[in-house]
Amino acid sequence: MTETGAANDFIRDRVRTDLEQGTYGGRVQTRFPPEPNGYLHIGHAKAITVDFGIAEQFGGICNLRLDDTNPDTEEAEYFESILEDIGWLGYTPASVLHASDYFEQLYTWAVHLIEKGLAYVDDSDIETISAQRGGFGKAGVESPYRTRSIEENLDLFARMRAGEFADGTKVLRAKIDMNHENMSMRDPVMYRVRHSTHFRTGDTWCIYPTYDWAHGQSDAIEKVTHSICTLEFDTHRPLYDWYLAQLPLPAEKPVQIEFARLELTHTVTSKRRLAKLVNDGTVDGWDDPRMPTLRGLRRRGYPAAALRAFCTEIGTTRTNSRQNIEALESYVRRELNTTSLRRMAVLHPLRLVIDNWPTDAEGNPVVEYFEVTNNPENPADGTRQVAFSGELVIEQEDFAEVPPPKFFRLTVGREVRLRGAYLVTATSVEHDTAGNPSCVHATYDPATRGGDAPDGRKVKSTMHWVSTAHAHPITVALYDRLFVTEVPGEATGEALDDVNPNSREVLTDCLAEAALAQTPPGDVVQFERLGYFAADPDHPGLFHRTVGLRDEWAAIQKRRG
Ligand code: ATP
Ligand code: MG
Repeated sequence: MTETGAANDFIRDRVRTDLEQGTYGGRVQTRFPPEPNGYLHIGHAKAITVDFGIAEQFGGICNLRLDDTNPDTEEAEYFESILEDIGWLGYTPASVLHASDYFEQLYTWAVHLIEKGLAYVDDSDIETISAQRGGFGKAGVESPYRTRSIEENLDLFARMRAGEFADGTKVLRAKIDMNHENMSMRDPVMYRVRHSTHFRTGDTWCIYPTYDWAHGQSDAIEKVTHSICTLEFDTHRPLYDWYLAQLPLPAEKPVQIEFARLELTHTVTSKRRLAKLVNDGTVDGWDDPRMPTLRGLRRRGYPAAALRAFCTEIGTTRTNSRQNIEALESYVRRELNTTSLRRMAVLHPLRLVIDNWPTDAEGNPVVEYFEVTNNPENPADGTRQVAFSGELVIEQEDFAEVPPPKFFRLTVGREVRLRGAYLVTATSVEHDTAGNPSCVHATYDPATRGGDAPDGRKVKSTMHWVSTAHAHPITVALYDRLFVTEVPGEATGEALDDVNPNSREVLTDCLAEAALAQTPPGDVVQFERLGYFAADPDHPGLFHRTVGLRDEWAAIQKRRG
């Protein structure tokens, strides 16, 4: 896969240096390590482009490793969705691996640490252990169990594994330094007792390794060279290195490198909060088009190529920041502009009757067909025939009885162009019982076929239209931001306080040209003048607005100077 603007950043510099120095014998191996406890989101897309992108750029490999060390929250369903979403994004893991496959090796290594006097079984509960740890500038307190003999620790640890102890009654801790300046090094927990069925290992285990104990060791087992993660693991790096240093491993050990998480305005990526939106019915599910999950973005019509380009081109740094969602949308628009077919659809129909339209011998209105370009950006997409007749619909907002200043669209007495067809002049308007325009009468000029007047007279406006007799009825969902504020929760501390109660508007009376009926599920088309719309993969006739046509990102950048 080729990406525009292949990145240069501090991680790539590091990889380059290691390659030059022959640190890993010229090997580059990364991994993407999600916990299968939820669906992937836009933040994961960033990590995926970093992990897979770097491996690809330097001729290395990237594996998918499921960090499945917590039986309570993990499910096979999530595992499958992760695999599928990575494939959709355009990457293929060299291998699909599971931390749970290393449980036996991790256990053996834990025994090794006990034998070296570097780990002990602690009977304290989690609250006590946490209190013992102290805090920044506050000394830690050694556990009374810290001085247990190696023999006793070996015996107790074996019995932990054998299932003799209840959940929460014992842990295995590394014996490092209770006064270390880094809290991660104050005798961290390696194992906890958990009598729970794991989605892969079943009931084989009732002790489970912590993230810190599993992660670096899994990297070492797989021979990962560069273990790339997000900045919150920065303070865990000394522990990552410490564990590796104690184990009987080859000299070349994986190195952990951290980068800043991707955050977007008007968006949250916390799985817990996203789950709440699903569970309380704010959205329809994890794949709701408003969700920042890869499934949601995909249903919304975001092309994988746009996500990859965005994640790559924003760069990778160690500074936390929030990207404007408008910037992401402009990548989406740029991609769709070149790939999507153009169609005409009317979202808020207003009848337009051409009173001087001819009828045939049987008295039926004549039907004419206009050849229209499918995609001006790609001639290979060809043309289509669009039916035109005397009964049409136009957008309500393209007609004004009393035109406001600078309104150049249709009003009684004015001539406009019906895109690709004819020039028409509105002559009168009918109203419904509420007094709103219900039908505009017009005349057309037969000499303007194709949309241009032979005498060269100009009109100020071109409007899209649909022939009523040939219309394909559709339902359209328009979306607004899922969170009203740029930084959800900035004011109250709870992002969900800022959920937009009006993030979706469903229009059920829309009419589109006949060709739209041929749109394959999941494809995105441009409705002329209205934006890009994705055909729902499951519900024929339902279209989601992916993005509008206006580049708000350009406007934001201009305002900023
Ligand atoms: P949670 O804490 O909600 O479970 P997580 O962020 O830990 O989520 P994982 O599935 O464990 O999610 O993460 C897999 C990988 O994706 C990790 O390497 C993590 O650092 C990375 N990742 C997760 N969120 C982001 C983000 N917003 N930006 C960049 N990378 C991310
Ligand atoms: Mg996690």
